[in-house]
Amino acid sequence: MHPLRTLILAAGANDAVRRLVATAPVSRDVVRRFVAGEGTDDVVAVTSRLVADGLSVSLDYLGEDTTDERLAERTVQAYLRLLDRLHAEGLSARAEVSVKLSAVGQALDERLALDNASRIAAAAEQCGTTLTLDMEDHTTTDSTLRVLAELRRTWPWVGAVLQAYLRRTLDDCVTLAGSGSRVRLCKGAYAEPSSVAFAHPHEVDLSYVRCANALLAGRGYPMFATHDPRLVAVIAERALWYGRKPGSYEYQMLYGIRPDEQRRLVNSGEAVRVYVPYGEQWYGYLMRRLAERPANTAFFLRSLVGRS
Ligand SMILES: Cc1cc2nc3c(=O)[nH]c(=O)nc-3n(C[C@H](O)[C@H](O)[C@H](O)COP(=O)(O)OP(=O)(O)OC[C@H]3O[C@@H](n4cnc5c(N)ncnc54)[C@H](O)[C@@H]3O)c2cc1C
Repeated sequence: MHPLRTLILAAGANDAVRRLVATAPVSRDVVRRFVAGEGTDDVVAVTSRLVADGLSVSLDYLGEDTTDERLAERTVQAYLRLLDRLHAEGLSARAEVSVKLSAVGQALDERLALDNASRIAAAAEQCGTTLTLDMEDHTTTDSTLRVLAELRRTWPWVGAVLQAYLRRTLDDCVTLAGSGSRVRLCKGAYAEPSSVAFAHPHEVDLSYVRCANALLAGRGYPMFATHDPRLVAVIAERALWYGRKPGSYEYQMLYGIRPDEQRRLVNSGEAVRVYVPYGEQWYGYLMRRLAERPANTAFFLRSLVGRS
């Protein structure tokens, strides 16, 4: 792993740094570049703005690795409140939810995570929208795909996420490329051993393209989650090759990252969904985004030092 990335992730685990970031007056503005806010009102306001710009949205209530049943329940309740609000505001046709199974109890008991995810899926259906299961580190992949398969028996539209950096993923893409299957393809965000994952960025990119081909050749609905300009161009070319019309697949990007590119794609007729995180536990998410890209960290540190 890049030394700066290691340093930022270590800072992310440091309480003093956490306090500094959480209390510095300008943090709010900087955090808001990547996180929609802490409460339901904040995220509904951001969603309205993005939808008015022609974008679709997937909303992530921040909170992961729950080993406490009450915290898992709090996450479920937050999603249920959010879905109600999206419905009431007329946003649910364009705004779905993304759920991490670890946030709803996967580490405690897979059955608990399935039951909790089922409650969110049922509420999503009632509100006229969908749910995608985020993918976490490789030790959870089999469990997450088992829960996905169970959920899809009742709600076949539940979305999966596959990570191109895992060596197994091309096979998973082929398995999940059937009719109606919604699959988000991303590079993968966790530090994984080379026994299960490609280590070199170039290998990950090649895997991404192989997986994209498998999904585009299939009969499902691929969702290409990447900010990488080269991959965005390759997907456009491959989609044409497979006779895919815009709207039979979509691009996905994170809130605050390459917003101009998001709008360019929408203006050229493509379907684009923005992944919008919110909630009180924004700190770990922010640190992961900063660690991904030194330029973001420089921007963040300049803001902290320059204006606080
Ligand atoms: C919608 C969405 C959902 C995701 N869901 C998951 C998930 O469920 N599980 C999971 O493991 N991972 C998930 N990820 C994260 C993903 O796996 C990658 O870690 C992340 O997207 C960075 O990879 P990249 O494809 O953008 O390419 P990178 O190789 O990281 O970046 C390529 C180029 O994109 C631009 N770029 C990338 N990051 C930034 C940035 N932070 N700021 C500015 N420019 C940037 C730069 O031009 C950079 O050169 C998700 C990502 C997205 C977009």
